[in-house]
Amino acid sequence: PTAQVLMNLYGEDGAPSLIDPRHVAAKAVARLADMGLTPAVAFELEFFLLDSQRDAQGRPQAAVSTLTGARATTTQVYGMAEVDEFGDFFAEVDEACAQQRLPATAATSEFAAGQYEINLNHRADALRAADDCALLRYAIKSIARRHGMEATFMSKPFPDRAGNGMHLHISLLDADGRNVFDDGSEAGSPKLRHALGGLLATMPDAMAIFAPNINAFRRFEPDQYVPVNANWAINNRSSALRIPAGDPVSRRVEHRVPGADANPYLVLAAILAGIHKGIAESIEPDPPATGNAGAEMANDIPFDLPAALDRLGESAALKTYLTDDYVDLYVETKRQEFVRFMERISSREYEWYL
Ligand code: GLU
Ligand code: MG
Repeated sequence: PTAQVLMNLYGEDGAPSLIDPRHVAAKAVARLADMGLTPAVAFELEFFLLDSQRDAQGRPQAAVSTLTGARATTTQVYGMAEVDEFGDFFAEVDEACAQQRLPATAATSEFAAGQYEINLNHRADALRAADDCALLRYAIKSIARRHGMEATFMSKPFPDRAGNGMHLHISLLDADGRNVFDDGSEAGSPKLRHALGGLLATMPDAMAIFAPNINAFRRFEPDQYVPVNANWAINNRSSALRIPAGDPVSRRVEHRVPGADANPYLVLAAILAGIHKGIAESIEPDPPATGNAGAEMANDIPFDLPAALDRLGESAALKTYLTDDYVDLYVETKRQEFVRFMERISSREYEWYL
C-alpha cells in the first residue's frame, strides 16, 4: 500500500518557497480574489498509450490491446471500440480517480492512432483543479505501467500524428457565485472580451510555459487543431482561445495552447495573469476568427524554445504576476536544459554532415 501526500514548500522562515510553482499559481489566484473574482477551472489531458517495444528505427509504437492483440494504426476519433480495447486500464483509472476524489468525467479516443483523452470536471478552486491535473497525469502513467504499457503526455511523440494538448477551461465567479463571463449572449460579457484581450496580448510571452521543452514546440503545426495564432473564436477548435457553445451559464474560455507535458500550476498562473491584466486594463481583443483559424503560423509568436525563453525573460507583464525571481529562475533552468540537449549530436547530423 502506498500513500500519496501533496505538499507545498516553505523556507525555514516560514515564507513560501520561491521554487514551488503552486505558490506561483496561488499568487495569481490572489490577484483575482482582490478583484472579487474566483476562477472556476477544469483541465483536459490528451495522451498516447504506448508499450516498451520500439520499431526498427527506435520509435515508440501504440500499445498492443490485450483484447485484439493489435496496435492502433489509424484514426478512430471518439471511437467506442478503441476505448474498449483498453477497458481494464480505463476502469482502473476510473477507480483511482474515485479513490483520490479526482473529478474525471469522460474518456475518449482522440484523433491520432493510440491517442486518448480524459476530462476533469471544473472546480471553483483553481489550485485544486491544477492538483487534479497533476494527480491524474500520475495515475494514468502508473496504471499504464501496471498494464505493461507506457502512457506519454509528451507533446509530440510522433511527427506525423496529432500531438497531446492540455486544454484549460476557465470562467470567473463573483461573490455570489455568478459567472461574470455570462451575459446571456454567445460571445459572452465585456469582462470575457477583456479577459480574451489580456490572454492574447500575453500569449507570445507565455509560450515557454505553455510549451516547456524542445519537443513541445513540434506540436504547433497548421491544421492539427493546435493553435498557431493568437486568436479567439466562438466554438471553433482551430483557434487558440475557443468560447465553447452551450448553456450561457457555463460561458467560458477554452485555452488550447498548452501541451500535455506543461506544468499545470504554471499554465494556470500564466492564464490567470493574462485574464487579470486584460480585465484590469480593459484590453480589447481583435474580432473573433472565422473559418479555419489554424491554417497559417503567426510570425509574432516564438515557436521554438530559445526564442520563447528570451521572450519570457523580457516579459514585464508576466514578471509582474509570476515575480521577477521566478521568471529568471525558470528561464535560466530551461536554458540549461537546452544546453544539455545540444550536447548530444543527432543521427541526422551524422547522416548529413559527417
Ligand atoms: N490534439 C490537439 C492538441 O494538441 C487537440 C485536439 C482537440 O481536442 O481538439 O491540442
Ligand atoms: Mg482533445
